[in-house]
Amino acid sequence: MATLTYLPAARRIVVKVGSALLVDGDGRLRDQWLDSLAQDLAKLKTLGYDIVIVSSGAIALGRGRIVDAKARLNLAEKQAAAAIGQIRLNAEWQQAMAKYNITTAQILLSPDDTETRRKHLNARATLVTLLEHHIVPVVNENDTVTTAEIRYGDNDRLAARVAQMISADALILLSDVDGLYSGDPKIDEAAKHIPEIKQITADIMAMAGPARHVFSSGGMITKLEAARIATSAGCHMAICHGTAMHPIQRLYDGGLATWFQASSRPLQARKTWIDGGLTPKGVIMVDNGASQALTRSKSLLAAGITSVKGTFDKGDLVAITDPANVTIARGLTRYSAHDINLIKGHNSGEIETILGYRDHDEVIHADDLVLDATAKKA
Ligand code: GLU
Repeated sequence: MATLTYLPAARRIVVKVGSALLVDGDGRLRDQWLDSLAQDLAKLKTLGYDIVIVSSGAIALGRGRIVDAKARLNLAEKQAAAAIGQIRLNAEWQQAMAKYNITTAQILLSPDDTETRRKHLNARATLVTLLEHHIVPVVNENDTVTTAEIRYGDNDRLAARVAQMISADALILLSDVDGLYSGDPKIDEAAKHIPEIKQITADIMAMAGPARHVFSSGGMITKLEAARIATSAGCHMAICHGTAMHPIQRLYDGGLATWFQASSRPLQARKTWIDGGLTPKGVIMVDNGASQALTRSKSLLAAGITSVKGTFDKGDLVAITDPANVTIARGLTRYSAHDINLIKGHNSGEIETILGYRDHDEVIHADDLVLDATAKKA
């Protein structure tokens, strides 16, 4: 039995639940198991964890209304099944968590929402706001409208993108395998379970085997791809067997799993993502007060902005300069150049009157700022 676990040290976790765990072969919800998982998650919440669930199961729950038991579904049928099943899926999560006094919220995402910076910022702000209010978001792919070409296609990768987006420090893939083995344990008696992977090398990728040899219907390749995304975003990831009762409690106590160690810290990884090798699209000039606040890791507010150069939109990377015209930081702006020109020098409370809308109090949130090396020393 492995004793390794990164879970106790984590603070913000994403738990991915596969369809096969939630729904049995006859399309029935495994409600006792769901209750045991809800109990585990409630316990973590009382310990102060932020929790996001990524749950599959929409198609599995809705398919019976569209086709006979085991029949194959075409794309339109899958999307119709998802439209039926998603309502039920969220109702089941809502009920299961409400029993432990936890409020849930539904988030449906498409790749555009995590890959496009502007949408990414928006989805992140929604998720973080929910977490700040102690709500557990339940995420799934927006199956009813996304077509094959623009899908994540599997919730392993979606869960990794969500973990990256919210700077989670642990991602747990509850699966029907207990991790990665050095060979296929079904045919190779010498195959050994691997409890920890510090780096995802080509050799590790090869262990997943070609698609037709995957060890389970879960698909090890997509799990390793998820591990790549998560670990480079500063998030440890575990693959563990989730079918038995209380799967999270077992993992917390050091149960059998393969843990992939993160290659950096979430905040550091986020700063790299913000920069992303891009050239700033414009410049925001700030006064001395704002310049000092930024070096103390505060957000940039409209009140401290003196002028704007360039044409940029919400979500673009911009440089920030102090009154001496020295670049002190770069960051992702929540307002366009046009709108910043109108609100510069004003208090956040006046934004709505001036623009007719107010997205955020901050023009650039501290989480979306990278200080220039020289500014950090100031
Ligand atoms: N989003 C799909 C569903 O809810 C499942 C995708 C997956 O399991 O990877 O049915």
